[in-house]
Amino acid sequence: MMARKVQRPSQTIENYLGVIYTLSRDGETVIGRKLADWLEVSPPTVTATLQRMIRDGWVTMSDDKSIRLTQGGREAATSVIRRHMLTELLLARILGVPWSKVHEEADRMAHGVSAEIADRVADAVKHPRVCPHGNPMPGHEEITEPLVPLLEAEPGVEYVLARIHEELERKPELMAYLERHCLLPGATIVLVEIMEYNDTVTVYCGGHDVVLGLSVAGKVWVRDKGSPMGQGAVAPGVMGDVQPRLQAQ
Ligand SMILES: [Zn+2]
Repeated sequence: MMARKVQRPSQTIENYLGVIYTLSRDGETVIGRKLADWLEVSPPTVTATLQRMIRDGWVTMSDDKSIRLTQGGREAATSVIRRHMLTELLLARILGVPWSKVHEEADRMAHGVSAEIADRVADAVKHPRVCPHGNPMPGHEEITEPLVPLLEAEPGVEYVLARIHEELERKPELMAYLERHCLLPGATIVLVEIMEYNDTVTVYCGGHDVVLGLSVAGKVWVRDKGSPMGQGAVAPGVMGDVQPRLQAQ
């Protein structure tokens, strides 16, 4: 009668695992202070939680205080990120939740999603390789390789907005600002001007100029309009993954 139960860490530990996974994916050295920044908790809280995570075998800490996922930690992190992204896709594509709100909502919901429901959601949204923000599903990191950092785009040239990093997803006001100005994956975007002395970047998108902070623009990627992936770009509202359109052609 008892269903097979997979041991899942607590919600707090899942949040930590997700951030450690994302930072490691980006090649960053994971240290407590970065986790405190991302998770918006105090350094002593991070230290205490990390001690528990080491004790329970999710992570290891080296002499230089850098943190690494164990095999079990990696599996649990992959699971939570996948559930989070699939929940975002469910909310955006099927329930029609505004793009700027899906990260926040998924943050609350994803912890309770079972493996079976996650698989059903994956089928329903047709197994995308990226979340609605263009960030790669675990195991599909290579999809981001051909992307061009917005700050390295050629001014005056049309690109397709492709990816808005997880670090920005966590800022609801910024997400609402981007959505209001049509800065969504799939939108056509032109780099107008980088003003380093002003810490701002101006882009042209959705019929008008939009000003971004330099640090925000540094977390945005575009792709060539002429590239095969660019041709398959989805319109804002469909969002996220270019693959279904490509396969349909
Ligand atoms: Zn996302």
